[in-house]
Amino acid sequence: MTAKILSAAPVVEKIKNNLIERCNALKTRGITPSMCVVLVGNNPASLSYVRNKKRMCEEIGAHFQLEHMPDDISSEEFLKRVEDLNLNPSIHGIIIQLPVSENLKKLNLPNLIDPAKDIDGFHGLNTQKLYSGTKDLSLLLPCTPKGIINLLHFYGVDLKGKTIVVIGRSLIVGKPLSMLLSNFDATVVLAHSQTKDLKQFIKQADIVVSAIGKAHYLDESYFNPIKNTIVIDVGMNTIDGKLTGDVDQKSIKDVVGAMTPVPGGVGPMTVITLIENLIFATEKQIKG
Ligand code: NAP
Repeated sequence: MTAKILSAAPVVEKIKNNLIERCNALKTRGITPSMCVVLVGNNPASLSYVRNKKRMCEEIGAHFQLEHMPDDISSEEFLKRVEDLNLNPSIHGIIIQLPVSENLKKLNLPNLIDPAKDIDGFHGLNTQKLYSGTKDLSLLLPCTPKGIINLLHFYGVDLKGKTIVVIGRSLIVGKPLSMLLSNFDATVVLAHSQTKDLKQFIKQADIVVSAIGKAHYLDESYFNPIKNTIVIDVGMNTIDGKLTGDVDQKSIKDVVGAMTPVPGGVGPMTVITLIENLIFATEKQIKG
């Protein structure tokens, strides 16, 4: 049996069509949903992520604005410019593209953005909702975790009672995802570099989400073929200039039930979920 490929393309298409309709409905009321990305410096990876966000924004008919700041911007000037964006009623969603320059790292970046415009879902008031057990996907929750839930829902995966191993405990993926999965009644193991016997946990899992950042780390020896495990590969690594996940797809394809591709899996789900958050944020702001 060869693993089913859980491609993002049909999910993105479905969500995109819904967002185009909602964006048009807002425009007929005189409101163009508008996203602003704050970018500091010229990190090549950041420039490429920003281009993807811009393209998807424009594809649904929303407005995109880039607030490009120099590497040597002072923290005072940076704070002032972010606050101006918070106060600007024609901007509905703001993100600060990471990484920022060294002198800005001491700032509490997630909490600088108005929580109503925090489409990355990193503000304390937004992440707090995860702790209180929410399943409400219209809230501004972190995009990669929410995108993974959207993808699993699209492919009809019921999370209730499932044993799920999430590998990686970052603030942007592993931690919020483990909480969101638990809110959807899964039993979650949050693994990391100090986890002993990772293989044994994975062999018992119905679903494995890998957010490690090490190319081809998981091979067939990690999986129990009778479990038909669903593998969600968050990893974005490059080998010889080629994007690749944490999972060795060739090696595992005959021992797992389904897997997301890299590229074409979690990455596009993250981008479309950011744009979905922009539309939810705009709809809520105009309701007041
Ligand atoms: P991160 O901050 O890079 O941290 C990596 C995590 O993996 C840490 O929690 C670390 O454990 C754990 N880890 C490292 N080696 C391990 C091992 N051998 N066994 C088990 N756990 C191990 O995490 P991140 O920011 O979430 O990024 C992870 C990957 O996902 C990267 O490749 C990143 O580019 C990608 N990513 C993709 C998307 C997307 O949209 N597709 C979005 C975000 C991130 P410790 O905590 O113990 O150090």
